[in-house]
Amino acid sequence: MTTLPIIEYPNDILTSPTKKIREVTTELTGLIDQMVATMRAVDGLGLAAPQVGHTIRLTVIEYRPDKGENKRAAIPLLVLINPKIISRSSEEEIGEEGCLSLPGIELDVARSLRIKVRAETTTGEQIQFRATGLLARIIQHEVDHLDGKLIIDYAPRRAALIKQYLAPRDK
Ligand code: ZN
Repeated sequence: MTTLPIIEYPNDILTSPTKKIREVTTELTGLIDQMVATMRAVDGLGLAAPQVGHTIRLTVIEYRPDKGENKRAAIPLLVLINPKIISRSSEEEIGEEGCLSLPGIELDVARSLRIKVRAETTTGEQIQFRATGLLARIIQHEVDHLDGKLIIDYAPRRAALIKQYLAPRDK
Protein backbone atom coordinates (compact mmCIF):
# COMPACT_ATOMS: atom_id res chain seq x y z
CA MET A 1 0.00 0.00 0.00
CA THR A 2 1.41 3.34 -0.98
CA THR A 3 1.48 6.09 1.56
CA LEU A 4 0.66 9.72 0.83
CA PRO A 5 2.79 12.79 1.46
CA ILE A 6 1.49 14.78 4.42
CA ILE A 7 0.92 18.46 3.82
CA GLU A 8 2.66 20.64 6.36
CA TYR A 9 1.87 24.12 7.58
CA PRO A 10 1.85 26.68 6.02
CA ASN A 11 -0.30 25.52 3.10
CA ASP A 12 -3.66 26.92 2.01
CA ILE A 13 -5.16 23.43 1.73
CA LEU A 14 -5.00 23.11 5.51
CA THR A 15 -7.28 26.11 5.97
CA SER A 16 -9.57 25.62 2.96
CA PRO A 17 -13.26 24.78 3.30
CA THR A 18 -14.05 21.08 2.88
CA LYS A 19 -16.89 19.50 0.92
CA LYS A 20 -19.44 17.08 2.24
CA ILE A 21 -19.06 13.58 0.78
CA ARG A 22 -22.14 12.56 -1.23
CA GLU A 23 -21.22 9.06 -2.30
CA VAL A 24 -18.76 6.34 -1.31
CA THR A 25 -17.02 5.61 -4.60
CA THR A 26 -14.21 3.14 -5.24
CA GLU A 27 -11.98 6.18 -5.58
CA LEU A 28 -12.97 7.22 -2.06
CA THR A 29 -12.38 3.78 -0.55
CA GLY A 30 -8.99 3.77 -2.27
CA LEU A 31 -8.17 7.10 -0.64
CA ILE A 32 -9.33 5.78 2.75
CA ASP A 33 -7.00 2.77 2.45
CA GLN A 34 -4.09 5.06 1.60
CA MET A 35 -4.91 7.39 4.49
CA VAL A 36 -4.96 4.46 6.93
CA ALA A 37 -1.62 3.21 5.58
CA THR A 38 -0.17 6.72 5.86
CA MET A 39 -1.42 7.20 9.43
CA ARG A 40 0.08 3.86 10.46
CA ALA A 41 3.38 4.53 8.71
CA VAL A 42 3.93 7.73 10.68
CA ASP A 43 2.43 6.44 13.95
CA GLY A 44 -0.33 9.04 13.92
CA LEU A 45 -3.49 8.81 15.99
CA GLY A 46 -5.60 10.39 13.28
CA LEU A 47 -5.41 11.85 9.81
CA ALA A 48 -7.83 14.21 8.08
CA ALA A 49 -8.28 14.33 4.30
CA PRO A 50 -7.01 17.93 3.91
CA GLN A 51 -3.68 16.78 5.36
CA VAL A 52 -3.20 14.64 2.27
CA GLY A 53 -4.55 17.23 -0.14
CA HIS A 54 -8.25 16.39 -0.31
CA THR A 55 -10.68 19.07 0.80
CA ILE A 56 -13.44 16.65 1.76
CA ARG A 57 -15.01 15.76 5.12
CA LEU A 58 -13.22 12.52 5.89
CA THR A 59 -10.97 11.38 8.71
CA VAL A 60 -9.40 8.16 9.93
CA ILE A 61 -8.52 7.51 13.58
CA GLU A 62 -6.74 4.67 15.33
CA TYR A 63 -4.60 4.09 18.39
CA ARG A 64 -2.57 0.92 18.72
CA PRO A 65 -0.63 0.99 21.99
CA ASP A 66 2.90 -0.40 21.90
CA LYS A 67 3.96 -3.21 24.18
CA GLY A 68 3.96 -1.99 27.76
CA GLU A 69 1.53 0.82 27.05
CA ASN A 70 -2.00 0.75 28.36
CA LYS A 71 -3.80 -1.70 26.07
CA ARG A 72 -7.16 -0.58 27.41
CA ALA A 73 -6.56 2.81 25.82
CA ALA A 74 -6.55 1.22 22.34
CA ILE A 75 -8.87 2.75 19.76
CA PRO A 76 -9.91 0.44 16.93
CA LEU A 77 -9.78 1.87 13.41
CA LEU A 78 -12.51 4.43 12.84
CA VAL A 79 -13.32 5.82 9.42
CA LEU A 80 -15.60 8.82 9.77
CA ILE A 81 -17.34 10.31 6.75
CA ASN A 82 -18.97 13.73 7.22
CA PRO A 83 -18.37 13.64 11.00
CA LYS A 84 -20.25 16.19 13.05
CA ILE A 85 -19.95 16.91 16.75
CA ILE A 86 -23.57 17.33 17.76
CA SER A 87 -22.95 18.09 21.41
CA ARG A 88 -20.00 18.68 23.68
CA SER A 89 -19.59 18.90 27.43
CA SER A 90 -18.80 22.29 28.87
CA GLU A 91 -16.32 20.48 31.07
CA GLU A 92 -12.94 20.63 29.40
CA GLU A 93 -9.57 19.06 29.88
CA ILE A 94 -6.22 20.52 28.86
CA GLY A 95 -3.90 18.12 27.11
CA GLU A 96 -0.78 18.29 24.99
CA GLU A 97 -1.37 17.78 21.27
CA GLY A 98 0.83 17.45 18.27
CA CYS A 99 -0.16 17.45 14.63
CA LEU A 100 1.35 15.66 11.63
CA SER A 101 1.05 18.93 9.70
CA LEU A 102 3.01 20.83 12.36
CA PRO A 103 6.07 18.68 12.97
CA GLY A 104 7.97 19.51 16.14
CA ILE A 105 5.14 21.53 17.66
CA GLU A 106 3.30 20.46 20.81
CA LEU A 107 0.71 22.67 22.41
CA ASP A 108 -1.70 22.50 25.31
CA VAL A 109 -5.24 22.50 23.98
CA ALA A 110 -8.44 22.56 26.02
CA ARG A 111 -11.00 20.08 24.66
CA SER A 112 -14.43 18.99 25.79
CA LEU A 113 -14.19 15.90 27.92
CA ARG A 114 -17.27 14.27 26.39
CA ILE A 115 -18.78 14.66 22.94
CA LYS A 116 -21.56 13.15 20.89
CA VAL A 117 -20.71 12.47 17.26
CA ARG A 118 -22.73 11.74 14.15
CA ALA A 119 -21.03 10.38 11.05
CA GLU A 120 -21.46 8.08 8.09
CA THR A 121 -19.65 4.81 7.54
CA THR A 122 -18.14 3.45 4.33
CA THR A 123 -21.26 1.33 3.88
CA GLY A 124 -23.44 4.43 3.94
CA GLU A 125 -24.88 3.93 7.42
CA GLN A 126 -25.49 6.84 9.75
CA ILE A 127 -23.91 6.28 13.13
CA GLN A 128 -24.11 8.23 16.35
CA PHE A 129 -21.92 7.64 19.37
CA ARG A 130 -20.45 9.20 22.48
CA ALA A 131 -16.75 9.62 23.00
CA THR A 132 -14.70 10.59 26.03
CA GLY A 133 -11.08 11.21 26.94
CA LEU A 134 -8.46 10.51 24.28
CA LEU A 135 -10.95 9.54 21.57
CA ALA A 136 -13.01 12.69 22.20
CA ARG A 137 -9.80 14.74 21.94
CA ILE A 138 -8.71 13.11 18.67
CA ILE A 139 -12.15 13.53 17.08
CA GLN A 140 -12.22 17.22 18.04
CA HIS A 141 -8.72 17.68 16.59
CA GLU A 142 -9.67 15.95 13.31
CA VAL A 143 -13.02 17.73 12.91
CA ASP A 144 -11.10 20.99 13.42
CA HIS A 145 -8.96 20.03 10.41
CA LEU A 146 -12.15 19.66 8.35
CA ASP A 147 -13.09 23.18 9.45
CA GLY A 148 -9.67 24.55 8.53
CA LYS A 149 -8.55 24.92 12.14
CA LEU A 150 -5.17 23.90 13.54
CA ILE A 151 -3.84 23.58 17.10
CA ILE A 152 -1.88 26.81 16.70
CA ASP A 153 -5.23 28.60 16.41
CA TYR A 154 -5.77 27.80 20.09
CA ALA A 155 -2.64 29.63 21.14
CA PRO A 156 -2.96 33.04 19.48
CA ARG A 157 -0.26 34.60 21.65
CA ARG A 158 2.22 31.90 20.76
CA ALA A 159 1.07 31.48 17.18
CA ALA A 160 3.08 34.45 15.92
CA LEU A 161 6.25 32.94 17.36
CA ILE A 162 5.44 29.53 15.95
CA LYS A 163 4.74 30.97 12.51
CA GLN A 164 8.08 32.72 12.66
CA TYR A 165 9.75 29.45 13.55
CA LEU A 166 8.06 27.59 10.71
CA ALA A 167 8.35 30.24 8.02
CA PRO A 168 12.06 29.81 7.14
CA ARG A 169 11.74 26.06 6.68
CA ASP A 170 12.52 25.27 3.05
CA LYS A 171 10.97 22.13 1.70
ZN1 ZN B 1 -3.59 17.48 13.08
